[in-house]
Amino acid sequence: MFGVGRKKAEGSFSIHTRAAAIERMRREVFDLLVIGGGITGTAIARDAAMRGLSVALLEKGDFAAGTSSRSSKMVHGGLRYLKGGHVRLVREALHERGVLLRLAPHLVQPVSFLFPVYETGDDSRLKLRLGLTAYDMLAGSERLTRHTSLSREKAAEVEPLLRFDGLQGAFRFTDCLVNDARLTLATARSAVRSGAVTVNYAPVIALERDSERVSGASFRDAISGKEHLVRARVVVNAAGPWVDGLRALAGEPPMLRPTKGVHIVVPRARLPVSGTVVIPSDDRRMLFVVPAGECTYVGTTDTDYRIDPALARTDSEDAGYLLRAVNALFPETRLSPEDIVATWAGVRPLVAEEGAPTPSDVSRDYDIDIGPPGFYSIAGGKLTTCRSMAQGLVDRVIEEEGRRFGWQTKPPRTSVVPLVGGNIDSFERYRRGLMPALEESWGLQPRTAYRLLRSYGTEYVRVLAYALRDPALLRPLSPSCPVLRAEALYAAEEEMALTLEDFMARRTDLMLFHPTHGLDAAPEAARLMGSVLGWGWRERRRQVARYRESVAQMTALLNDMSPSQPKTAR
Ligand code: FAD
Repeated sequence: MFGVGRKKAEGSFSIHTRAAAIERMRREVFDLLVIGGGITGTAIARDAAMRGLSVALLEKGDFAAGTSSRSSKMVHGGLRYLKGGHVRLVREALHERGVLLRLAPHLVQPVSFLFPVYETGDDSRLKLRLGLTAYDMLAGSERLTRHTSLSREKAAEVEPLLRFDGLQGAFRFTDCLVNDARLTLATARSAVRSGAVTVNYAPVIALERDSERVSGASFRDAISGKEHLVRARVVVNAAGPWVDGLRALAGEPPMLRPTKGVHIVVPRARLPVSGTVVIPSDDRRMLFVVPAGECTYVGTTDTDYRIDPALARTDSEDAGYLLRAVNALFPETRLSPEDIVATWAGVRPLVAEEGAPTPSDVSRDYDIDIGPPGFYSIAGGKLTTCRSMAQGLVDRVIEEEGRRFGWQTKPPRTSVVPLVGGNIDSFERYRRGLMPALEESWGLQPRTAYRLLRSYGTEYVRVLAYALRDPALLRPLSPSCPVLRAEALYAAEEEMALTLEDFMARRTDLMLFHPTHGLDAAPEAARLMGSVLGWGWRERRRQVARYRESVAQMTALLNDMSPSQPKTAR
């Protein structure tokens, strides 16, 4: 029925192609070397490759393992930025929201947001109405729905756990949620399909110079331990919160004001919201309560952060701040630190700006700095604006370097060519058309079928193709885990997952949003991945142990919190 065998996909992306990619990096001189496999670096690689430039990309860990899997998982205009008067930024983000919805309609999902209004709130009903009207207008032809106003009774009906005392009503508007890690992965795979060469687990350790000009970089293959040199006409530093570390290698001063943002995850049963709710923090920032499968997450914080981004963790003060906000608006839930099952912390690579008193005042705009010659650093921006930001960077590089190297480039096309898996007109129609066959012919539970389409888009056929070889691969990894065995094979064979954690945390969201982090599914996932990656029993055991350790680290951070601990104001 699906007509797909197990032959390798075009632009195949797995351990099997990694050695060849490294070999190409050693042999060729590329037009562009991109450092960083987050959303910024992968979007740049895709744009440049689509314009006909030869592109190499190096990522020190897994794709999206930095900030790009640690966002609030929203593709949005950013209602709160309107308050700060950042109209151009909001307009651009709303436009890009529409573009991303077309490029990856399986990963970007329009959902309803509820914004309750309280007598004691910072913003009057009138002010919010004006703000939302502007938000609708700025979206122009990309508007999803017009916002609506709800009475207090209706608001309480939609979210019965909301504090009724002082509630004046609510507004409802539509914005989008996104699977941030899979969006980054789809962007990386799309770059590869357009001709880019990418290698993960390959940290850049030094920059190469040709007199004054930066002309490449040395990297370490973290799998073999070997070091190599890749040469390029232009090097782009898209290392997110690590941008300044690479700038230091180039002898350039820092350009970032990094800030930390954390989220906490609780079981959905403890905070059973029916949709995303906007709530105020006690310092009047805008927070979000977001349902995610069997869990609900709450975020985010915004605090200055100056140490190694890899060490960013949720501490008791962060968690207390988020819990206080939830308990103030959903008093019956009485959430305590014991309810938190997972957390994540990310570091925003914001561009330092004079006169921004608090981290939340720092602009989310991006900036490009050139120096030394041949070395471009890019920072700031948002997941939502990754495509336009990448286009801006590639335009700039072509403008500055195109003549020198005699480049004949094509016009940008990233806004019209779908990402891998995203060639879908309307996700709703696509889903409705396929669900019956997935349930009846393949015997999938409706939830599983829906999740497959949401995660993989048109690539779901390639996941199911594994089950043509062995129908047992249609079974879940464990009784409590919704993810299919075929997905573990697909991740290793076609999505460049090289560790068990790559699969549990970024190819799927088991680590964050499964109540027990998919721990009981880990040995089976390791067995299947190991059959592709050549893991013997010792390595499989090591992978499971390392995953357990990561989960333990994520949850142990909460152990320093006790309900009696004083919660300091921020
Ligand atoms: P990263 O994702 O960190 O990528 C940089 C990569 O460079 C990393 O993977 C790193 O491993 C790699 N690297 C570093 N050093 C080296 C080296 N030496 N060699 C090779 N590779 C290297 N935006 C939105 O649009 N919507 C949201 O809802 C949203 N919420 C957010 C919430 C939080 C808490 C945070 C922190 C950010 C949020 N953002 C959001 C912003 C968005 O997530 C970031 O702007 C974006 O992910 C940054 O991507 P990046 O590629 O620049 O950085």
